[in-house]
Amino acid sequence: MRAASGLLLLLAASLPGSEIWLGDSLARLGFANPAPERDGAERFTRARPEPLLVAAERDRDQLLVDGVKVSLGDAAVLRTQRPKAGPAMQRLAIRRADYDKVLLPLLWDPPPGSRRPIRILLDPGHGGRDPGFQNKALRLDEKDLTLDTARRVATRLRAAGFEVLTTRDGDVFLDLKERSALAAKLRADLFVSLHYNAAAATSAVGAETFCLTPAGQHSTHDTGNRGSTQAEPGNRFDALNLRAAYAVQRALVTGLRATDRGVKRSRFTVLTDLTCPGILIEAAFLSNRGEAIRLSQESHRERIAQAIADGILAYASALPR
Ligand SMILES: [Zn+2]
Repeated sequence: MRAASGLLLLLAASLPGSEIWLGDSLARLGFANPAPERDGAERFTRARPEPLLVAAERDRDQLLVDGVKVSLGDAAVLRTQRPKAGPAMQRLAIRRADYDKVLLPLLWDPPPGSRRPIRILLDPGHGGRDPGFQNKALRLDEKDLTLDTARRVATRLRAAGFEVLTTRDGDVFLDLKERSALAAKLRADLFVSLHYNAAAATSAVGAETFCLTPAGQHSTHDTGNRGSTQAEPGNRFDALNLRAAYAVQRALVTGLRATDRGVKRSRFTVLTDLTCPGILIEAAFLSNRGEAIRLSQESHRERIAQAIADGILAYASALPR
């Protein structure tokens, strides 16, 4: 393997120190690049431990991991690679931080010492004097839907053998710090905050799942990169945060055929101080008429709960007991 690592160093030397070739970083994780595509789009596959396809495009700050969007801290860029032998090629490069904080946690073994969760804390968003988003035309309050979803997810997870607790079990107000503090107090192994989305553009649809932004990186919606990049206590769980968010987002996209808005990063107050891995799910848009009508149907709420439970199960079952 000496020759191979020597080559890696040589290729890396033609990049800024903060970047790494996407192809080299995925090769380290067992991926091959079956057929170079047009300039600026690259696809990689591996057969084991399960077949997996990763795709990236120039100037996009997202990867597709088995068709599910996963945010990068910075967009992939096209650079000129000059191998020792052969012609120069245009290849994609990513930030080393994205290798450490996205590729490695998602595509390699779970971090040493990680254990399958036993106690899961579900956090139905809003409540009491905070209704969350209100779809007045359909008389739907986000706080009622998140509580309904939490109950349905809890039933499924308990049936699968988990111990499930909730931050609230009625129409009561809890502030955000109280919610994350409960994760510590109750010694939860996983924190799952449940929300429904809203946007000024009522055409917005789909599911997105957030986890805490890694230290040094900008959050997904931090336009202009003016926000915080500071480390938070919850960054101790960066790898598991991302694995949980990906597993749930994938289940929502495949199980519900929801429009995929991706795994995203945010320093949401409810995530920053967690003492266990945590995610925040926006399963559908309450501000979109079609999605809100479906949310008013119990059968659809059951399907959402099933997808979320399936995602949590997939996350858990990939971790050692
Ligand atoms: Zn909300």
